[in-house]
Amino acid sequence: MLSDKDRIFTNLYGYEDWRLEAARKRGDWDGTKDILAKGRDWIIEEVKKSGLRGRGGAGFPTGLKWSFMPKESDGRPHYLVVNADESEPGTCKDREMMRHDPHKLIEGCLLAGFAMGANHAFIYLRGEYIFERNRLQAAVDEAYDAGLIGPNACGSGWDFDVIVHHGAGAYICGEETALIESLEGKKGMPRLKPPFPANVGLYGNPSTVNNVESIAVAPTILRRGGDWFAGFGRPGNTGTKVFSISGHVNNPCNVEEEMSIPLKELIEKHAGGVRGGWDNLLAVIPGGSSVPLIPKDVCDTVLMDFDALKEVQSGLGTAAVIVMDKSTDVIKAIARLSYFYKHESCGQCTPCREGTGWMWRVMERMAKGEAEVEEIDTLLKVTKQVEGHTICALGDAAAWPIQGVIRHFRHEFEDRIAARKARQAGAPAVAAE
Ligand code: SF4
Repeated sequence: MLSDKDRIFTNLYGYEDWRLEAARKRGDWDGTKDILAKGRDWIIEEVKKSGLRGRGGAGFPTGLKWSFMPKESDGRPHYLVVNADESEPGTCKDREMMRHDPHKLIEGCLLAGFAMGANHAFIYLRGEYIFERNRLQAAVDEAYDAGLIGPNACGSGWDFDVIVHHGAGAYICGEETALIESLEGKKGMPRLKPPFPANVGLYGNPSTVNNVESIAVAPTILRRGGDWFAGFGRPGNTGTKVFSISGHVNNPCNVEEEMSIPLKELIEKHAGGVRGGWDNLLAVIPGGSSVPLIPKDVCDTVLMDFDALKEVQSGLGTAAVIVMDKSTDVIKAIARLSYFYKHESCGQCTPCREGTGWMWRVMERMAKGEAEVEEIDTLLKVTKQVEGHTICALGDAAAWPIQGVIRHFRHEFEDRIAARKARQAGAPAVAAE
């Protein structure tokens, strides 16, 4: 278990003041000028050494991503874009960082922006984060007043501006190219890749889009060293991580823990355990609504990291742990997620636009047992047709939860259909084989 001295987000719960003076006492903005003086290559190499993988869901190595930005300027400005459009159901970690530790993010913007040759950072917040926008803007204003950002930021000779931009509440704007479109004032619709944002991003210029947590941990990594961060977790899955734990637990919370902590330990130590005890657990969605659920027997031993969860056909995603106890109607729960994806589809590609609505309607019928057993495989086949055949990952995100629930709870679908048929025939229900 992570000790307090190894936590990066020391004010995650807001027990202390968020303002600059208090943030400085906690170590923020300490020696920032010296870090900048070490140069861009040193910063990128240190982040690579830390093993930090993107904290927004995809888990791409952060240092490598930064290194994709052109080294030599071709006259075009470079941009850092921070993805604070935190809209994945179950996920509320970035919210707490921006509320209570905003200076970690702002300092991270300066260091990351400098490393990639950017003089501007845009922080794109989800539409519902009004309180967080106001808090973040106040912290940005403080940083300008103190000379930490703006012209000659921290006395480094580097000019750096931070612009807080408020989105309008569309889930799809969390997809990096849709976010860029939205920042440019257009409809938030994902772009085809390539070209990738590192070459053609915001306003057609080299841009890197990073999650809030990925940027906010950077100053501590650079102060303590990449090796320090890499000392937590397992190879390929290093560092500390903020988990959002919700659902049927006694104490829903956000908590920073060591990567690769066993899921059971995470829930029992920090969330007060499953309601009614561990044996009352049915399943867990371990990484936000887009990853497949895992049943209790997998939860008993699985580690919370990218590779361990991939091995059990799920994913770490945003590390939002949604706990479902035995009172959960698991088909109905996933049907509700299907509705979410149908609602949030931007509609520009056919498999997603048509498929999300179709899958939701079938899932609704499945939840009531108003389907035929053969339709379970038809539904599965359709999820495979949507997965991997769309412009952005929303199609995959709509397909995977359904695949997961069929993989682990097919008997529920079959029992429900059998029960409905038995009711209609006036006979007692018989569970299907
Ligand atoms: Fe839009 Fe869905 Fe296609 Fe993504 S997958 S671009 S959300 S229609």
